[in-house]
Amino acid sequence: MSVGPPLWLLAELTYRCPLHCVFCSNPTEFAATGAELATADWLRVLREARALGAVQLGLSGGEPLARDDLEPIIAAAHSLGYYINLITSGVGMTEERIRAFKAAGLDHIQLSFQDSSRELNDFLSSTRTFELKSRVAALIRQYEYPMVLNVVLHRLNIDHVDEILAMAERIGAEYVELANTQYYGWAWLNRDHLLPTRAQLERAEAAAQRVRARLGSRMQIFFVVPDYFETRPKACMNGLGSVFLAVTPDGTALPCHAARMLPGLTFPNVLESDLRSIWYESEAFNRFRGEGWMKEPCRSCPERHKDHGGCRCQAFLLTGDAANTDPVCDLSPHHHLVTEAVARAERAAAAAGNGTPSAGPGTPAVVSRPHELVFRDHRISIAVEHGSGATAGGQARGES
Ligand code: SF4
Ligand code: SF4
Repeated sequence: MSVGPPLWLLAELTYRCPLHCVFCSNPTEFAATGAELATADWLRVLREARALGAVQLGLSGGEPLARDDLEPIIAAAHSLGYYINLITSGVGMTEERIRAFKAAGLDHIQLSFQDSSRELNDFLSSTRTFELKSRVAALIRQYEYPMVLNVVLHRLNIDHVDEILAMAERIGAEYVELANTQYYGWAWLNRDHLLPTRAQLERAEAAAQRVRARLGSRMQIFFVVPDYFETRPKACMNGLGSVFLAVTPDGTALPCHAARMLPGLTFPNVLESDLRSIWYESEAFNRFRGEGWMKEPCRSCPERHKDHGGCRCQAFLLTGDAANTDPVCDLSPHHHLVTEAVARAERAAAAAGNGTPSAGPGTPAVVSRPHELVFRDHRISIAVEHGSGATAGGQARGES
């Protein structure tokens, strides 16, 4: 099987983040991660990935602005010819920094909001950051970056799509990504509270469509459907080890930013191996390449070239075996695990009084019961790591 180069490099510079989002995709055990790579190590990673063929660089975290060496990292990436995207909550951005980023060659900034209302934005992140994000949006415009907003959708905010898009229009957004939550990391712990109902999803898609029709090309709206409501899985990462390479804060190299959870694999570290041998030779990157690893029904399925059997992390989380067919697929013998989760969400939403049109775009009922959610938090992460961990409904939120 011929292996192409990695085209995307995701540099997760740090797991530090001042926010506590309930849907955070960082690993729940992030507190146990080793020391962050030094600047010189990141610069070497950038050179090695570029030499392999990587052209797109995502700088993320955690909150990448928590690193005080972003400027030299951006400058080095620019001189290597990357297209550089900073993925940020906005916390830590100042005019001085954005001016320095511009001078260093940063191409693109993606700013996240948790909601269009201050109350829910601040609740979901357990911080008071709504006003700050609005100021950062103004800085992004002032420094003539394309205005790119990202809002993660779930049961608690999906009824606000009209208001979220109105906010995006006010801010002057050119691109808005309405990304339905992927259920890994902290979102997995909170899944029963975050999965929307089918009716919510349909209303949200219709709202996005109406705004699209009204604004045309003035604002591009990407609505990423949650795969729990599909009958075929997404072609996750276009197949593991095909185009995407993530490096975590401690230098662990992964074929997908969530892949550290996959059992039985030793993920290589950039401090011990060069990226070429990691990409082409390591067991961790070769294990799920091609189709040799597939079990039935994928193994003999005519659609396997298209979706590569779906997401390995989702297969593992739901079935306990990463080589199983992604249970989102209705040909999977485990598909009932997905439909049961959706049915549980429908019941929970009905009981909580949200997810119904009559509940309207107001504050979801769970907001008054924060103890039902697990907020991303350092202490809870330590508890998870030691096996005394959190389950939704079992832990109060951590404080900043
Ligand atoms: S999802 Fe929220 S908590 Fe997680 S890294 Fe992003 S801003 Fe921080
Ligand atoms: S059986 Fe496997 S290859 Fe076929 S559609 Fe389902 S996930 Fe895709």
